[in-house]
Amino acid sequence: MGDSSRGEATKVAGGIVEHFNDPFIIDENEIFISLSIGISLFPDDGKTIDILMRHASIAMDLSKKVGTNTFEFYSPTKQKIKMDPLKIEMELHKAIEQNQLLLHYQPKINLRTGHITGVEALIRWNHPKWGIISPGTFIRIAEDTGLIIPIGEWVLYSACSQVKKWQSEGFFIGVSVNLSQKQVNCSNIVQTIVNVLQTKGLEPHYLEVEITESMTCNFEHTISILQQLKKLGVLTSIDDFGTGFSSLNYLNKLPIYTLNQSFVRELYNNPSVEEIVKTIISMGHSLNMNVIAEGIETKEQLLFLQQHLCDQGQGYFLSKPLQASKLKEKLDEIQQVVKRHGISEDIRLRIWYEELLNQAKKNLQDTVRLQQGMTFKFKKINGQFVHTLSDGELLYRFGFTPAQVVGKRLDEFLPCEIALEKTAYYERAWEGEDFVTYEDKINGIYYLASLRPIKKGGDVIEVIGSCVDITARK
Ligand code: C2E
Ligand code: MG
Repeated sequence: MGDSSRGEATKVAGGIVEHFNDPFIIDENEIFISLSIGISLFPDDGKTIDILMRHASIAMDLSKKVGTNTFEFYSPTKQKIKMDPLKIEMELHKAIEQNQLLLHYQPKINLRTGHITGVEALIRWNHPKWGIISPGTFIRIAEDTGLIIPIGEWVLYSACSQVKKWQSEGFFIGVSVNLSQKQVNCSNIVQTIVNVLQTKGLEPHYLEVEITESMTCNFEHTISILQQLKKLGVLTSIDDFGTGFSSLNYLNKLPIYTLNQSFVRELYNNPSVEEIVKTIISMGHSLNMNVIAEGIETKEQLLFLQQHLCDQGQGYFLSKPLQASKLKEKLDEIQQVVKRHGISEDIRLRIWYEELLNQAKKNLQDTVRLQQGMTFKFKKINGQFVHTLSDGELLYRFGFTPAQVVGKRLDEFLPCEIALEKTAYYERAWEGEDFVTYEDKINGIYYLASLRPIKKGGDVIEVIGSCVDITARK
């Protein structure tokens, strides 16, 4: 084997990897396939096909560990070096000063408009002998050895430099940077960020820091850091939300959270995951937070997330992490993905209005309850009005409990003549009359009741009633 055959193999493997960066179009669907290539060369790595194949397979395993869409040559010493954290640590010490670290940027996309809302900076290590190494291989070692502090600082400086460079080219976009627990706990991260922003002359709202949910274990300290950053104008978000045990207490202190990839991957395979995803999205919205779904790899996942009003998305289907120059080049193409493959604008608007309406109804009910009122629902079953819900402070003040009302007819908990009187109002609402109201007194409390029919396809399927206490007005 000479250098030329190694060079040729590099060219061929590089060419294959390059092709797999673009999607395959099958029946108008874009399919992304990632690959890992292992290479062994005759005669250095083996003299029989058997041995060559075995060594190629070892190299392929290594290539998988190093990152997706990459290739590796077989090397007996390399296997040891790569698996040896000590060697990685020694090499990592040189990585910054020898300019071996680089950042790729993965866009985050607004799932409503398809526009890029920002990019996430993801570190890569381009080792002169080992090639491109993914953070999964070295971040943990960097954390254990404390090297994450200078590396993290380098990431912050580089990401902010890139944003300034883009700005000078007329491209205004924010960058988010992953912070490790050690950076938050063991360094003066707030001062570091202030220095970076000042040195680079970057406005704080162009920088977002991501912490992972598990970091909120050290709750008080993490929250205090995040609040200081927020005061500066830096954005903050929780990565991988749903994998840890977030305290609802701090959720409302952060504007954004990212839905973990493992949930997105399981959409369509696992109905309970669909429910979890829907719940996380609506929980985010009720806390006025933006929800970003990570790891969108298919059109189906995109559609599901759009239908459930997820705000932003990130994933190979939208765009892989790219070098800064490539990202700008591919900007228009990336911003077309949602338009081409997502749900249409009018369907999206309809879903959005329905959600708003539901939210408004819920708010109304909550308000009535908070104002010490009560809400109830009923249906006509076999010619009889039966209550399907009843709740609120006023119900108890009337002297009832939900169990006495739900599943019951009016005459089962009210005197006969009063039940008859109310049935007439119930009947009008059931016939579709929109705003039936009546006043009465129970247990010494004057109340005003209003009934609103819920219609589906022109037919009334249920009536919602609410009562408020008007004793003070009498
Ligand atoms: P993360 O913050 O959750 O970043 C998202 C990871 O998912 C990235 O992996 C990204 O390439 C990958 N990804 C994005 N879309 C898809 C998809 O559709 N399918 C799949 N299968 N993967 C997708 P990457 O770059 O290997 O980074 C892994 C982790 O390393 C990051 O997870 C983050 O926790 C950490 N990391 C990366 N850069 C830094 C850094 O500068 N500092 C620190 N402290 N950690 C970093
Ligand atoms: Mg992240």
